[in-house]
Formats: sequence, C-alpha cells, structure tokens
Amino acid sequence: MSSSQRPLPKSILVIGGGPAGLVTLRNLLERSNGAFEKVELVERRDRIGGVWCRDEDQDEETIATNTTLKPQWPTPSSPELTNISSVGFNGERLSGAETGEYMRKFGEEYVAKGVVRLNVEVVSIEELVTTDESKAGGWKVKLRDWSDVDEMDEIKMTEEIWDAVVVCAGFYDRPHWPKTEGLNEAKRRGLALDGRWWSPAEADAYKGKKAVIIGNRHSSSLIATELGKVTDQPVYISSSSYSSSNNAQDRSSKVHYVGRVLKYILQPPHETDQGSILERLTVIFDSGEEIKDVDLVIHATGYYPHPDFVHVRALPQSTPSSSHLVPLTSYSSPLRPHHRRIPFLQAHILYAYNPSLAFIGHILALEPFAFANVASTWLSLAWSGQLGTDAYPDDVQSRLKTDEDRMKEVERLAVELAGEGELVTYTFFGPSSEAAYLSSLVSSSGGVLPVSREELEEKMRVVFNGSSPEAVHWARAVCV
Ligand SMILES: Cc1cc2nc3c(=O)[nH]c(=O)nc-3n(C[C@H](O)[C@H](O)[C@H](O)COP(=O)(O)OP(=O)(O)OC[C@H]3O[C@@H](n4cnc5c(N)ncnc54)[C@H](O)[C@@H]3O)c2cc1C
Repeated sequence: MSSSQRPLPKSILVIGGGPAGLVTLRNLLERSNGAFEKVELVERRDRIGGVWCRDEDQDEETIATNTTLKPQWPTPSSPELTNISSVGFNGERLSGAETGEYMRKFGEEYVAKGVVRLNVEVVSIEELVTTDESKAGGWKVKLRDWSDVDEMDEIKMTEEIWDAVVVCAGFYDRPHWPKTEGLNEAKRRGLALDGRWWSPAEADAYKGKKAVIIGNRHSSSLIATELGKVTDQPVYISSSSYSSSNNAQDRSSKVHYVGRVLKYILQPPHETDQGSILERLTVIFDSGEEIKDVDLVIHATGYYPHPDFVHVRALPQSTPSSSHLVPLTSYSSPLRPHHRRIPFLQAHILYAYNPSLAFIGHILALEPFAFANVASTWLSLAWSGQLGTDAYPDDVQSRLKTDEDRMKEVERLAVELAGEGELVTYTFFGPSSEAAYLSSLVSSSGGVLPVSREELEEKMRVVFNGSSPEAVHWARAVCV
C-alpha cells in the first residue's frame, strides 16, 4: 500500500465482545453515515461482556453443557468487583454484576441481528500483500469455531478476508510474571498461579492453606480477603512498595504485609496422613524474612497487551523482503516495562504502516468505557472519510508521531523515576494526559461527539479529582 493512502474500508471485523468491542461495533454501525457494507464482531466466549461477564454468573445448564475441549479463558473479575468508574455508555454507576447485565443488554440487539458471532476465536490475522502497491490488500483472518465441540476433529477452522480489522481483545491473556528465582519451577509444580485462576467459588479448596499473594493492588487485597475467610492460616500480601503503614489497611487479622520475594525454594515432598504427597515452598523475602510451608503463591501483578495473533508485513528496514510476515508485537519489548505496548499506532488507534488495522481498549484508562467510546467514534469517522488529514494524516511519518512522542515521554519518566521504573508504563497515561488525549480526539471529531473540547477538559478535571456525582454527569455527556 502506498504510504500516502488512507484506507476507506467497506468490510470490518471487530475482535472481542467486551465493552471496547461492543461500543466499537455500535459506533462503526451508527456513526459512519452508512459508509460500511459489512461490520461484524466475533467473541471467543459463549457470552459478551468481557471482564464483566463473570464465570460465576453462568447457569448450571451452561456449565453442564460446556465442552471440556473449549478453553475457559477465566475473567479476572470477582463477585466483589465493584465498578469504580463512572460507568456505562449512559453514565450510570453500577456494581460489577450490574455492569455485566448492562453489557449483555447493550449487546443483545447486535447478537439478535446476527452481527455478533459467539464461540468464535480469532487465531491469527495476517496482512495481505497485493501486487498493486497502491491498494491495501485487507486482512486474512483465521477463526476457530468452538460451538458444539465434543471431539478435537470437530473443531472448525475457517478463513475470511476483511478490508479492515479492529482488535478489542483486552489484555488479560498476558500476565506479567516477575523475574524471581524459583518461580518457573513453582509454576511447573502448580504452586504458583496467575490471579485469573483464583476463583472465590472454589475457595473451600483453600481451607487450611497458607498463601502468599504477590502485588499490592485492588485485586490482591480482594483475593486476600476471600482467602482469609476460608483458611485458618495467615495470608501474606507481598509487594515491593510495602511499608509498615500498609498494616493499617488490614481487613482481616490473618492478612500480613511482607516485602518483595527474593526466591522460592521447593521443599522436599511430604506425605500427608491420608497418604498423598504434598509439595510446598519456602519463600525468602528481601528483608531476610522467610516463610516456610507455603501451599500457594497467587500473582496479581498485572497484565500487558500482547496480541500475538496479529501478523504484519515486516518493516522494510528489518528484513530482506517486505512480503515476509512477522508478529506485530515482535516490534515491542516485553522485557522493559515501559516498552510494553502495541507499537506504531497513530493516535493510539491506527497501525501507522497500514491504517486498516486498529486497536481499541489496550490503554489502561481511568474511564475505560468513555475512553473506548470516544476512541471508536474517532475510528468510525476516520474510516468513513469524515476526518481531515490533520487528525488522520495520509503519510506514514506523520502517523508515527504519536508513538514516537509517547516513547520519548516514557523514556524520560523512566530516567526520572530511576529505581521505580516498573511504575512507568506506556499504556497508562495518568489523569491529565488521558484528559488531553481524549480532548484531542473529541476536537477532531467534528461535532459528532456531543461535547466540546473545553467542556470535556473541564469535566475530566472534575472526574479525576474524585467527585463522583460530577463524574456521572460527565459520563452522561460523553457516553451516549
Ligand atoms: C480486576 C479488574 C478490575 C477492574 N475494575 C474496573 C472498574 O472498576 N471500572 C472500570 O471501568 N474498569 C475496570 N476494569 C477494566 C476493564 O478491563 C474494563 O472495564 C473493560 O472490561 C475493558 O474492556 P475491553 O473490551 O477492552 O476488554 P475485556 O473486557 O477484557 O474484553 C475483551 C474480550 O475479547 C475477547 N477476546 C480476546 N481475544 C480474543 C480472540 N482471539 N478471539 C475472540 N475474542 C477474543 C475476550 O474473550 C473478551 O470477551 C477492571 C479490570 C480488572 C481486570
């Protein structure tokens, strides 16, 4: 495709039926002046809602008919999860369960119309190369249909060609595991797991177990509280930012805060009174403290966007032939926390080298619903030819600028916060930058979004100062 081209796709596939995917579908269908011929969404689970479609809300019949072959993709949310944002595309404030129901209702019209396909997983998307360099070739999408699968040979694989693809796959598939001595062995033995696999519904299995939870965020304290209810053993929360003042937040006398883990040591197997073999860990902390007989280590250490299934033409400078395909994520380094990102995105949305590929929902927003709504409205306008070249430039160099500027910013912050580099991430803007970013999208939206740039900035200032009635008011204005 020529670098000066701005694609105006006719067929668009949205990947992922969480809040970002559903609102993207709505905006592509309803804010594009009918420019597109075909817009569809695929979701790998049997229900829409993403994080908010909780496993424990499934009815017994669904669980009973669930094929064992189909992966479960557990949601990282728990029943206690309350939606802390001014949520909903209508600005309503909702509990976690209500948010799931809200998402289901929001999407049901599209499911009924047949533009949402459930139980369909995208396993790869590949940038197509055309002989005519002046045209975008579209995307080859390989899909796996998990509906009604009892046997491996029944799994249907299909291929489809789409002019454009929007990836709204969230980022909870790729947990961040710290580099700690002994952790890989603990994982192999089933003694260390990612927080997504912890389910309060199975809390009874943890009776009498001693656990260490890694991470000092909301999810680690939720897990600790739940575990504290079922075990008679202490529950430890380990964090590098531990200070003795954390103890003031203890919700249960069983919960203890400890520092960073230095090492896990596998203890010799031990035979129980019932004759089964038990494996446990000794956990050594940077304070020199050690805890013996630990049954389980649960990691609540965050995630990062890493859609491995996206394959693009290799950039000309990196391979002999630009028809060679490489994973897009091979251009970002997961090893350096502040480099973990989906690379080369214009306005954090469009793939600069071929803007018929877009991503929504990969930024850790303070207001994820509003963020996805504004960003996908902008996308709908861009692809339907309603944005000028200032907002949606027609050359690669200009489209790369957002990414280059953000990389410089995170490098500067990483140096400034030396020693706390883990805190700097490309994908978290922080309040003022999030407001400025959304304002810039709104101002280029040419009046489609029902707020002015000035109004948005003012509301965002209030929202991020923590005034909830104002936050709800703002969300009502923006999230229509
Ligand atoms: C513990 C926790 C607490 C949170 N608390 C809040 C809160 O209080 N308020 C708030 O606003 N936000 C909160 N969030 C953020 C939450 O992620 C967003 O609200 C929102 O769910 C993001 O929507 P999304 O569509 O981008 O991603 P998700 O909700 O993750 O949805 C992505 C969807 O894509 C599907 N998918 C992925 N890969 C494929 C594939 N290859 N093929 C087909 N389908 C695929 C997934 O199955 C999933 O349904 C929280 C998140 C977590 C983990």
